[in-house]
Amino acid sequence: MSTQFSRRSLLKALGIGVAVGLSPTLARAVTTTVPHVIVVGGGFAGATAAKYLKMWGGLGVQVTLIEANPTYASPILSNLVLNGQKTSAELSFGYASHNQKYGVNIIHATVDSIDKVNQSITLSDTQTLSYDRLILAPGIDFMPVVGHDFDKVPHAWKAGAQTDLLKTQIDAMADGDAFVMTIPAAPYRCPPGPYERACVVADYLKNSKGFTNCTVTVLDANPGITVEATTFGNAFTGYSVTYIPSAVVQSVNSDTKTVTYSVSSGSAQTLTAKTLNVIPNQKAGQIIFDAGLNTVDGNWAPVNPLDYQSTLASNIHIIGDSQGTGQPKAGHIGNSEAKVCADAVLRSLNGDQPDPAPKTNSACYSPISSTTASWLTAVYEYDSGTQQMVPVPGASYPASEGATTNNYRNMFNWSGNLFADTFA
Ligand SMILES: Cc1cc2nc3c(=O)[nH]c(=O)nc-3n(C[C@H](O)[C@H](O)[C@H](O)COP(=O)(O)OP(=O)(O)OC[C@H]3O[C@@H](n4cnc5c(N)ncnc54)[C@H](O)[C@@H]3O)c2cc1C
Repeated sequence: MSTQFSRRSLLKALGIGVAVGLSPTLARAVTTTVPHVIVVGGGFAGATAAKYLKMWGGLGVQVTLIEANPTYASPILSNLVLNGQKTSAELSFGYASHNQKYGVNIIHATVDSIDKVNQSITLSDTQTLSYDRLILAPGIDFMPVVGHDFDKVPHAWKAGAQTDLLKTQIDAMADGDAFVMTIPAAPYRCPPGPYERACVVADYLKNSKGFTNCTVTVLDANPGITVEATTFGNAFTGYSVTYIPSAVVQSVNSDTKTVTYSVSSGSAQTLTAKTLNVIPNQKAGQIIFDAGLNTVDGNWAPVNPLDYQSTLASNIHIIGDSQGTGQPKAGHIGNSEAKVCADAVLRSLNGDQPDPAPKTNSACYSPISSTTASWLTAVYEYDSGTQQMVPVPGASYPASEGATTNNYRNMFNWSGNLFADTFA
């Protein structure tokens, strides 16, 4: 991506001869004369976009990141909180670098509404802010399940308090107790993540707790394991996990920890567990629906993958899990989409066209036990014929070696790099 050209040209057009490295105070001093980009959501997608907009745009762009929470709880590696290999605190990130190193303005509030005509947003603290470009990265929301009370039956698919609650419930299990989890229908956040969770929990109960009589049951809404089927299938056999495909959740009794489900067109069945982990079906973050940026019958936001601009509204871009390009919903590729989007937004502010051939990539590492992991990678490129991002032949595959200790070590190198690229 010729981002340097974009940035230089932008600065030149604005008559600003200096770029990054100047203090946020100086950056703020020129805010009335430079375009304002607002980024909503400080997860892997939004935090990366805000950082790279300032890294590449320098004083030629004013960037405000609006994030509901003061710290971000990474879902990536959060299954390792369940088996005690990580703590939630170790997977928490703040936004000090964004502000102090890059000059991003940070506001901790919720965006309540978007005025697409006047290009402004209203925050939960009633502030109204105007934008030249708006980048939305609000992650996912959940489809309702009858009777599902997250405080009693955690999903733990947004990390932090939910992950800690699930860990507490797992740690309260005794030998002979049942763990039941449900896997949402695709597309959902992190394709291998639920299968990885079943393995981590089964390993923890068996090999860390030393329980020989606990059961682990997986109710999968999909007709089969969606990714890395051999690795997860072998692990399920090794851990004696009961795997039930095409299992559609109908309701939950959160007090008795009972899930009612049906398989194909069969009659309803129930399972009761000591620990029940229901991960509901998913859709784009709520602000996408509130702003009318989803398709009428769709759960995700349609965008042009060249610049992630909404096909339903000008100057609004949507990246990360909420976007509906068909690329996986994962943090690594959200970080990648953010860079394509930041580059395209800077080019557009400069009157230039986006890169006509963007590429993105994805990687998911999956712990299978407390010492082994597997991985899956994918590279996508823009296909001008279909105007879609499509997998690059031969560049998208799972680890052929399956779960290894070497992969487990590499998982921390990979995640450390991703965390630093997003938050440091
Ligand atoms: C167990 C597990 C394991 C995973 N492992 C991997 C992996 O190995 N590799 C990988 O690439 N991905 C992995 N993922 C997926 C990854 O965590 C998500 O895909 C990623 O977090 C999505 O990033 P995002 O920025 O789109 O959304 P999020 O990370 O959810 O960030 C969205 C942010 O927006 C904020 N927000 C939402 N609405 C508003 C609003 N209206 N106003 C203000 N703020 C708002 C939220 O507070 C949140 O901080 C895993 C996920 C799980 C659950």
